[in-house]
Amino acid sequence: MTSTSRRSNVTRVLLTISTTLKPATDLGFLLVKHPDRVHEFTVSTGRAYVCYPEADENRCTAALVLDIDPAALRTRGRERPDDFTLGRFVNDRPYAASSLLSAAIAQVFRSALRGTSKDRPDLAATPVPLELRLPALRCRGGTELAEELFAPLGWAVTAQQLGDTRYVDLTLAGTQRMADALNQIYVLLPVLDDAKHYWVAPDEVDKLLRAGTGWLAGHPKRALIARRYLAHRRSLATEALARLTDEADDSVEAVPAETDEDAELPETAKKEPLALQRRRAVIQALVDAGAQRVLDLGCGGGALLVDLVGDRRYTEIVGVDVSTVALAMAGRRLRLDRLPERQQGRIKLLQGALTYRDDRLKGYDAAVLMEVIEHLDEPRLPALADAVFGHAVPDTVIVTTPNVEYNVRYEGLTGLRHHDHRFEWNRAAFAAWCAGVAADHGYSVEVTGVGDADPEVGAPTQMAVFTR
Ligand code: SAH
Repeated sequence: MTSTSRRSNVTRVLLTISTTLKPATDLGFLLVKHPDRVHEFTVSTGRAYVCYPEADENRCTAALVLDIDPAALRTRGRERPDDFTLGRFVNDRPYAASSLLSAAIAQVFRSALRGTSKDRPDLAATPVPLELRLPALRCRGGTELAEELFAPLGWAVTAQQLGDTRYVDLTLAGTQRMADALNQIYVLLPVLDDAKHYWVAPDEVDKLLRAGTGWLAGHPKRALIARRYLAHRRSLATEALARLTDEADDSVEAVPAETDEDAELPETAKKEPLALQRRRAVIQALVDAGAQRVLDLGCGGGALLVDLVGDRRYTEIVGVDVSTVALAMAGRRLRLDRLPERQQGRIKLLQGALTYRDDRLKGYDAAVLMEVIEHLDEPRLPALADAVFGHAVPDTVIVTTPNVEYNVRYEGLTGLRHHDHRFEWNRAAFAAWCAGVAADHGYSVEVTGVGDADPEVGAPTQMAVFTR
């Protein structure tokens, strides 16, 4: 690299994140960066800095500043751009938020992207008032595309084109979990830019699905997002969309090995998909309990809600989820807008975090936590138990979760069944948790399995029915 281009390093504020949380300076905990000083990082594209132009009780803003070093760009191994790309970056890019910023976000805000905060785990799991501003975002598709990508995620979008250029001044306002906000930016910046600066490797699909957890499967523009994020590599985009569809179809776990074998079995001998067996088992438990007013806690895309709405014995059905995208998907699936008025009164969707006491959830006949607890960090489970068993106090609580012992029966599965699972328990661990919760909150509990039980490792799903 010549000294001329070294001198062309440009520093620029690319992203600001503001909050009016009380106290607003808790933003420092959410980003895991103390507001009192400037934080400096070496990132793959140069130097990055995080500082706080304002930090008081009422409003706090963090700024991410990037100092792109063309030499660093050139020397990176597999991400080495060709000269054409490099030329564009050096000449045109340093001012703009683009895929380079996305790469820096991944490095600078690693903990925040994972949704972890050592000092404020509750806050990291809670939607907070946020305003994100990208004053010069490179945007192929203009302000309309920015709107189409961010609005379905629950953001109020203000986008203004900068003169006659491809750049947009974008502001997003909304109440979101910090991790969701950052993951959405991380994925959608290169999508808007539509010029990823590095070679797309097969593990990019995993990265996309991980960053898209909870919001991408239900996004109306997911096909465009996958295509552009994966730099128009069609086979990768197809794989990503297929895996997303599995997720949206509520089979939130890896495809069991039996599914392949199923193809060779005669039609009648085919097994029901596990997700369906699980819903049947949960519904049977609700019927056995005589429940009429039911909470589906962590309802996701609403697969169980659809079954419940179709059965007149349920007089009140409430789906609760922390994810606005999941709730929007559930709303579409239930065709809420087209239900007759009398039906609409029976079903309600609420946004809420299950680790907080919520008066709206008090006094129901039954609550279902189907494949939900494993999506929470284990240290948050006592808060969930308190909110559900201690505060909402339904007469019956039905909990399902994977049996990790069964994972050896899933061919090709390494690690946990789903990329968002924080843990998967063996039968002893689940039984111990159930016994503890029941004793603490005055319930009795019965634990069983769902799916074909294996003599050695048990059934694929564990289910507990708690009765007060
Ligand atoms: N019960 C559904 C979805 C399971 S996926 C089914 O079995 O098909 C887990 C769901 O829990 C996701 O939709 C996720 O958004 C939700 N979730 C995770 N943590 C949560 C929390 N703390 N509060 C509320 N919902 C949560």
